[in-house]
Amino acid sequence: MFKEERSESTFHWGMLGDLEAGRPNLGRSTDLAVYRLMQFTLRDVLIAEHGVDEANRLFVKAGEVAGRHFCRNLIKARGDLAAFVAELQKTLKDLGVGILRIESADAATLEFTVSVGEDLDCSGLPQTDEVICAYDEGFLAGVLEEYSGKPFTARETDCWCTGDRTCRFLAKPR
Ligand SMILES: [Zn+2]
Repeated sequence: MFKEERSESTFHWGMLGDLEAGRPNLGRSTDLAVYRLMQFTLRDVLIAEHGVDEANRLFVKAGEVAGRHFCRNLIKARGDLAAFVAELQKTLKDLGVGILRIESADAATLEFTVSVGEDLDCSGLPQTDEVICAYDEGFLAGVLEEYSGKPFTARETDCWCTGDRTCRFLAKPR
């Protein structure tokens, strides 16, 4: 699983394991602090070893892989945009990822403005005048790629950390 060298992603959903069988007493959930501890220490080490730009690039890329597999495995709706958005919103809320709102959507160009409230990665962090949700940028792009079959980019324009108390992303085909 992780001992084989690779030059392309080999991730698949089965790598997450049998979540029920593995934790009969503790269950599927963990504390948000533990999730952030893992993500932020990994990002810290990547920045220290590879620099800010490369760390961000890797986080976006990992988020994109996650978003593609998330959509492939957990979102059934395809085609109808409203049905897809409704299922995506419900799934992100049910899993405690965030509260997704589509602020604007152009069905012809597939350009979206999306906000995410109570975001898993940044809600409650100190204000730093920087948008920090690189993983979410990739994740959103990956979800939209899987849905549309087209490559996407997503760019965070507002973040809890910039004082906005919600994250806002512009997403469009690449
Ligand atoms: Zn953010």
